[in-house]
Amino acid sequence: MKQLLEIPQRINRLEELAYNLWWSWHPEARSLFEALDRPLWKQTNHNPVKVLQGLAKERFKEVAEDPTFLRRYDAVIKALDTDLGSRPTWFGERFPDLSSASIAYFSAEFGLHNSLPIYSGGLGLLAGDHCKEAGDLGIPLIGVGFLYPQGYFHQKIQADGWQEPIYRPLDLNAVAIRPAQFPSGQALVEVPVGPRSIYIKVWEVRVGRVRLYLMDTDVPENAPWDRELSARLYGGDQELRIRQEIVLGIGGVRLLRALGIHPTVWHCNEGHTSFQMLERIREGVAAGKRFEEAAESVRKSSIFTTHTPVPAGHDAFPAALIEKYFSNYWPMLGLDQARFWELGRHPEPWGEAFNMTVLAFHLTEGRNAVSQLHGEVSRKMWQHLWPNTDVEKVPIISITNGIHTPTWVAPEMNELYKKYLSPDWVHHHDEPTLWQRVMDVPDDLLWETRQQLKRKLLGFIRERARTSWTEDRADPIQLLAAGTLLDPEALTIGFARRFTAYKRATLLFQNLERLKKILGNRWRPVQIVFAGKAHPADEVGKRYIQQIYTLAKDSGLAGHIAFVENYDMHVAHFFIQGVDIWMNTPRAPLEASGTSGMKASLNGVPQLSIFDGWWPEGYNGSNGWTFGVKPGPSLQNLSPEMQDTSDAEELYSILENEVIPLYYRRDADGVPRGWIQTVKEAIRTVAPFFCARRMVKEYADKLYAPAARQSKE
Ligand SMILES: *Cc1c(COP(=O)(O)O)cnc(C)c1O
Repeated sequence: MKQLLEIPQRINRLEELAYNLWWSWHPEARSLFEALDRPLWKQTNHNPVKVLQGLAKERFKEVAEDPTFLRRYDAVIKALDTDLGSRPTWFGERFPDLSSASIAYFSAEFGLHNSLPIYSGGLGLLAGDHCKEAGDLGIPLIGVGFLYPQGYFHQKIQADGWQEPIYRPLDLNAVAIRPAQFPSGQALVEVPVGPRSIYIKVWEVRVGRVRLYLMDTDVPENAPWDRELSARLYGGDQELRIRQEIVLGIGGVRLLRALGIHPTVWHCNEGHTSFQMLERIREGVAAGKRFEEAAESVRKSSIFTTHTPVPAGHDAFPAALIEKYFSNYWPMLGLDQARFWELGRHPEPWGEAFNMTVLAFHLTEGRNAVSQLHGEVSRKMWQHLWPNTDVEKVPIISITNGIHTPTWVAPEMNELYKKYLSPDWVHHHDEPTLWQRVMDVPDDLLWETRQQLKRKLLGFIRERARTSWTEDRADPIQLLAAGTLLDPEALTIGFARRFTAYKRATLLFQNLERLKKILGNRWRPVQIVFAGKAHPADEVGKRYIQQIYTLAKDSGLAGHIAFVENYDMHVAHFFIQGVDIWMNTPRAPLEASGTSGMKASLNGVPQLSIFDGWWPEGYNGSNGWTFGVKPGPSLQNLSPEMQDTSDAEELYSILENEVIPLYYRRDADGVPRGWIQTVKEAIRTVAPFFCARRMVKEYADKLYAPAARQSKE
């Protein structure tokens, strides 16, 4: 590992700070790094490790003698020590009997910071926010996942609008990760994958009080194809996937054991991680238990969260792959082939298969979906696994997703909330009464802040365009498509998410003439900024991007549409904080929850959304807008095409008749009072409920604590 520059003694804990992602959700810590070198901070997309590595020696000397810097440094270090020290915590006070419990949290992706590209979308972001909040609440969580040394791909859009995936090897020295230290001094963990063994290297990431362990198979002890195993997130075919999932589940348990960690509760975030339960049964059988006995204690101590209402979205493997990778494993569980197959057996459209979600349902007692509506959909979808149970009684509960508030709040909004809610608001952010006070923020001040955030977004977009102009010699038309002509005064609609068929990014383009009239109105202009990646194998998603990109270059739309490349957490921050409204167009009921609209509302950006995911719980008639066919019986009689046409029709009218007039209705001092009411209502009603604090507390109350108590017995 490359040595960081010699940091002067007086400020040498900057290194420790840079290596704990705690800095990323503490504004004083962020601005400390920014103060070191602002251009470098921006150039590195806010990566403190790189800032410290790139900082000039003289600058270190300078700040180490600057009383203002030192005062800020001391305050940040003190806050870090307090927060990570033995302070009283919510968990400690609520569950004094569980002081020695710990919870392992397995996930295939974690969205923690853009410098660590080990996430692709909502699932990963949720896992990242869950870890941050668990630490804030003092929940003894330990994360387990993968380091993908080539990360998720970097997106370039070619001149013809086609997405080009670029894989850039991660510079392991420039990320806040360090090799994990095993008590035995060993460097690698061995994982049996079918007939052979794969060796994994383990990295540790610090996320506040939480530690996250990431597995990496790129070590010389492995054969070349095994070294590639963890190279990329979601690359490759079914066989690569099953091998990845074996390493994630079985390797994950083994790495915890090698670290001397014995969790009380095991939480599987989505079915990719389900093999974990098999490995724990194997341990029980090796210790002399019968299969049923071992499975029962695994069930009692396991939690499973399902994330997708799309039946085909659940991982399932054909018999041949199960045979190849598990025929030497099932004897160790005391099972034969038939009984093993039963654990995951499920009919798929392409035949009978071993389904990872089914496996998880069979081997957990605590199970949840991620919104109320998704709970209903899931209970219906999986009722056949509990054949004698009424659909309402199918044992899958709902815990609606939430976002980690300190991560997603804009610094400018934070200042407003400090002033008008409470200087300490961030520590009480799930208390609804606190948010009543948002009504006291002066309208003009809130409006000015919103405008400022929009200018910041447009500045970011221009900066990006400038970089591609100078570095990639982008064609001028591409610079237009990238958003250089956007107007800071125009009503700006944001749409950023994974490009995949059911999210219907192109819904708004159903009637191009009508859209042109809406966008091109000289008195009340409207513009739309898009961002998002399509999975490299998703042809429909890539075609949607191409369609939008082509329109963004069309002079008929006069610079009113832009597509910003390479959506990631960094871009997401600018988007959800900087646009005026957040548009969400999924084909109901396929959105399990969605979280980007929560991030937007927290920052005073109301949602305009299909009635799906979390929105039926969030929408109150005056905190945003809803449109489209509602999930339920009326939906079942519609073809997807009819649903699209009807949804688009409603979207146009709501824009024309409600959203745009409200935005442009200004009083004498130029403030849109009615609009600001909606903004305040969005903040007031969404912020206290759709936060990870409320969510993680529910996980603790409804799932972690009961499981921890049962497994102590
Ligand atoms: C929040 C977030 C998501 C999830 O958004 P959805 O609402 O589920 O579409 C995806 N990607 C990034 C980068 C995010 O920040």
